[in-house]
Amino acid sequence: MYQQLPFDELTVDPQSKKRVAYFYDPDVGNYFYGTGHCMKPHRIRMTHSLIMNYELYKKMEVYRAKPASRLEMTQFHSDEYIDFIDRVTPDNLHMFEREQVIFNVGDDCPVFDGLGEFCKISCGGSLEAAARMNNGSADVAINYAGGLHHAKKSEASGFCYTNDIVLGIIELLRKHPRVLYIDTDVHHGDGVEEAFYTNDRVMTCSFHKFGEFFPGTGSLSDIGIGKGKYHAVNVPLRDGIDDASYKSIFEPIITAIMEWFQPSAIVLQCGGDSLSGDRLGPFNLSMRGHANNVNFVRKFGVPVMVVGGGGYTIRNVARTWAFETGLLNDVVLPKELPYNGYYEYYAPTYELDVRSANMTNANSPEYLDMILTNVITNLDHTKHAPSVQMQEVPRDPEDYGDVDEDTAAALDTKGGSQYARDRTTERSGEFYDDESNDRGSRNIEITAEEQMEIDDLNDAMAT
Ligand SMILES: [Zn+2]
Repeated sequence: MYQQLPFDELTVDPQSKKRVAYFYDPDVGNYFYGTGHCMKPHRIRMTHSLIMNYELYKKMEVYRAKPASRLEMTQFHSDEYIDFIDRVTPDNLHMFEREQVIFNVGDDCPVFDGLGEFCKISCGGSLEAAARMNNGSADVAINYAGGLHHAKKSEASGFCYTNDIVLGIIELLRKHPRVLYIDTDVHHGDGVEEAFYTNDRVMTCSFHKFGEFFPGTGSLSDIGIGKGKYHAVNVPLRDGIDDASYKSIFEPIITAIMEWFQPSAIVLQCGGDSLSGDRLGPFNLSMRGHANNVNFVRKFGVPVMVVGGGGYTIRNVARTWAFETGLLNDVVLPKELPYNGYYEYYAPTYELDVRSANMTNANSPEYLDMILTNVITNLDHTKHAPSVQMQEVPRDPEDYGDVDEDTAAALDTKGGSQYARDRTTERSGEFYDDESNDRGSRNIEITAEEQMEIDDLNDAMAT
């Protein structure tokens, strides 16, 4: 089934009329995780400087999003956790000894000055990106301060505290019956997968390094449970994957998902740690190999939210995200870097390029074929059950055997996510707030008919 595709030039359509909304908060680059910590929000400012100096602001709308409110963040996160994130500082940390353990802050996820504001900026961008896609004013919405895919409902993880992606998807679900999440970070998108593991309105698809690597989840056999069965796709990869191999596994999988799942909105996480030469990631993608994901996904013509993520060789992250922003605006940026505020970072070449290294690709065609065959078989298995199009679509007969998977007892014996566990004790459909949860300017005008459809879907979810 696997066929190695040639890696062609990336193409754009200069006549395209796509409306692109780009979110950037000038404060974001000032937050500092601490000396020696490899997560550097400064890379978002470097990216922005390249984007502006390449004059992409002439092609797209540039916004500063309203920071997310507590009410918005608690659409996914627990009240106690958000209260903690909001209040804790390096100075009062000693008062929160118990909470530090419970909420997993410390080494990887340190408490730094302005942590609460940083989270609000990150989440605010993805929430407004979703709102602009929902009201039809943007075909593409970009938030590089987002993409923090490891954060859990009540727990920080892997440099991530709040999950802007989950919040953005919840916002998209107000309007869109089905949302596809694609994660191209070198790490498994565990926080997002977990949040929607039992949900058939969100399909998550993560391409990541697997095997003795953080966070350890994302095996090929993790496909979702209960209603969400076959709605989680995991593509576990080995070290050194190159442009052509990545493209040859990425494109057929995304094509199959688009055909079967037919999402009306996509969220694409563009973690830059899958680039060659990353401080943490062992992949071997060039800038163009990474950007091919963006270029391929946007060409389906479905509204897409592009968020950042990891990325620890920051000059390469900035180069790649700038280049990808160009593609999203149907421009292939020229190689010569314009003069910009961080020019010295790009020595010695001062070029917009990240090259592959000379390293072994541990992903053999046989291995990739095994993955592709497995993933396509799973998708094929349920192709007659796009269950979200109506309330009562008969599921595959064998799926009836799985209804017990959502019980607490079954979860304990069969495994399952924390979120799935939580759902067994909490009101289903908790993400979908009632009318009393007014979102002010983010409320969206929808017809009575659309509202009925969405209510039906939510009712269906709650059963
Ligand atoms: Zn990562």
